[in-house]
Amino acid sequence: MLNIVLFGPPGAGKGTQSQKLIEEFQLTHISTGDLFRKHLGEGTELGKRAQAFMDEGRLVPDQLVIDMVDEKLQAENNSHGIIFDGFPRTITQAKALDDLLNQKNTPITGMIALSVPDEELINRIVERGKTSGRVDDQDEAKIATRLQVYKSETLPVANYYEAQERYESIDGVGSIDDIYDRIKEALQKLQEKN
Ligand code: AMP
Repeated sequence: MLNIVLFGPPGAGKGTQSQKLIEEFQLTHISTGDLFRKHLGEGTELGKRAQAFMDEGRLVPDQLVIDMVDEKLQAENNSHGIIFDGFPRTITQAKALDDLLNQKNTPITGMIALSVPDEELINRIVERGKTSGRVDDQDEAKIATRLQVYKSETLPVANYYEAQERYESIDGVGSIDDIYDRIKEALQKLQEKN
């Protein structure tokens, strides 16, 4: 069973690469950003509570995120495994994820981090904003906030996995296929460590 955390700043290509991993390894995709956008679109109570944070590019409070993932995991029984995309984004979330997966006896195989320079990220997000319809992709100040929040609140999550030798970082610049090849090499290394 493969439980992978695909990690990286906004615009790093997590969504694109997740799709390729899902197809090849028949994994379930849990993207907290996608789940929140679904709640927003459906006008649920959770969507309403998350909206202001999302619109400003700030993190939704941990407990809301953790409860949403918990619910998703309860309903999940794909024996191939799960890709977590955009989650965990804080140490609190990372610890909660370990607890939730321990209950299911299916620990995280490891984290694969995509490394991309800020300038490239900003270009990619602005480009995506032309078609994504996401308000948080269309405003340079919001993009800057998201990158700032990533550095201050989310980057420490990489140390959490690194300290447990469940971490690989790869260069996230290049063609989609080249980056995917690097991801598969990283995956191999993580599996050897397990
Ligand atoms: P994303 O699509 O992953 O870039 O997420 C879009 C927005 O959803 C983020 O800027 C946050 O406001 C919110 N969000 C998504 N995942 C999380 C998370 N794990 N923790 C807190 N907020 C999140």
